[in-house]
Amino acid sequence: MDQGLSTATTLGVPSIHRARFLLGKDRVCMTRVVVTGGAGFIGSHLCEALILRGSEVVCIDDLSTGSEENIASLLGTRGFSFIRADVSRGLDVEGKIDAVLHLASPASPPAYLRRPLETLAVGSRGTEAAISLAARHGARFIMASTSEVYGDPAVHPQPESYWGNVNPIGVRSVYDEAKRFSEALTMAYGRERKVDVGIVRIFNTYGPRLRAGDGRVVSNFVSQALSGEPLTVYGDGSQTRSFCYIDDLVSGLLAMVDSDVSGPINLGNPAEYSVSALADMVIELTGSKSKVITQPLPADDPVRRCPDISTAKRLLGWEPVTDLVAGLERTIDWFRSEMKS
Ligand code: UDP
Repeated sequence: MDQGLSTATTLGVPSIHRARFLLGKDRVCMTRVVVTGGAGFIGSHLCEALILRGSEVVCIDDLSTGSEENIASLLGTRGFSFIRADVSRGLDVEGKIDAVLHLASPASPPAYLRRPLETLAVGSRGTEAAISLAARHGARFIMASTSEVYGDPAVHPQPESYWGNVNPIGVRSVYDEAKRFSEALTMAYGRERKVDVGIVRIFNTYGPRLRAGDGRVVSNFVSQALSGEPLTVYGDGSQTRSFCYIDDLVSGLLAMVDSDVSGPINLGNPAEYSVSALADMVIELTGSKSKVITQPLPADDPVRRCPDISTAKRLLGWEPVTDLVAGLERTIDWFRSEMKS
C-alpha cells in the first residue's frame, strides 16, 4: 500500500538547492548552516563534514546529551561557532543562513526515557523554533526524524510509505510521537509557508563518539567486551536492527541538504542482524573473553527493523558503503583509544 510520498516539486518549492549547495569542482562552498544538536554523536560528525567542504557552521547544543569533547577539534576552527542553548526555548541566529538541520534531541532509548518532558519539548517547541528560523531566513530545513516513527513495524523492511505502528502512550512515545509531530510540522511549514523542507528518517547509527554509557546496543556491547564484562542481551536477542556507519549516514545527510527532495527519506544500512548475532560479532572482533547474559526486554522494544532505502538510492543517489565488520572495527579502535586515554 502506497500511503503517499511527496517531493519539493509537489509542494511547489523551486528546485534551487542543487545549484546552491553542491560543490562544483573549482568552486568554494560559501554556505552557512545551522546545526541544532551539533555537539551530539551524529551532529558533531556532520559539523566536521560541513566545515571540511567549506561551509560556515553554527552549532547549537545544550550539552544535555552531547558534549564539548565531541566538537573539541572544531572549537577555534575558522567558520565554526558554538552556541550553548536549549532550542526548545527559542532560537535566533543573526546573518544569512542557507540551511538549518534540526538534530537536537536525546536519541538513545535510556537517554530519552530519563528525559521524557525535555524530549517532547525539543521535538515540538524545539522543532518549531528551528523551522521558523529557517522560514525567516529563506533557508532549507532538514528534520532529523527516526525509524522510531515506524514503531514496532508490521511491514518489513520499512518503506517511507508505511505509516507505522506506534504506541502513542507507551514509554517510548515521548520520542516517537515527538518525531512524528516534528514531521507533521515540517510538512505543514512546507505546504503552508512554502519553506524548503526535507525529512530524513535515521535508522540505528554507530561509530566513533558513541558514549560508553549511552545505553545503545553497539556502545554497550563494545565497551562491555573491551572491559571484560558480560554483554547484556535484552530479551532472547532475536530482535533485529540494521546498523549504519556514521560516515555513511553523514554523506546521506549532506546529499539531502544538497537536494530539493522533501521526503521523508530513510537513511540507514539495509543489512539486518539479530542482537545476538551482533553480540557474537563484537566478541569475535574484540577478541574478548566476555560471556553473553540476558536481561529483560525493555517495553515496546521493536521486534524487527530494517530500512527500505530504494527512495534514497533513486532520489539522492545515496547508499551506505561500509559493512558492519569494517564499521565495528573502526568503532572498536576508537573505544580502545578512549579507554586508554
Ligand atoms: N539492546 C540489548 N542490549 C543492550 C542495549 C540494547 O540487547 O545492552 C537491544 C535493545 O533491546 C534493542 C536493540 O538492542 O532491541 C537496539 O537497541 P538500541 O538502544 O541501540 O536502539 P533502538 O533500536 O532500540 O532505538
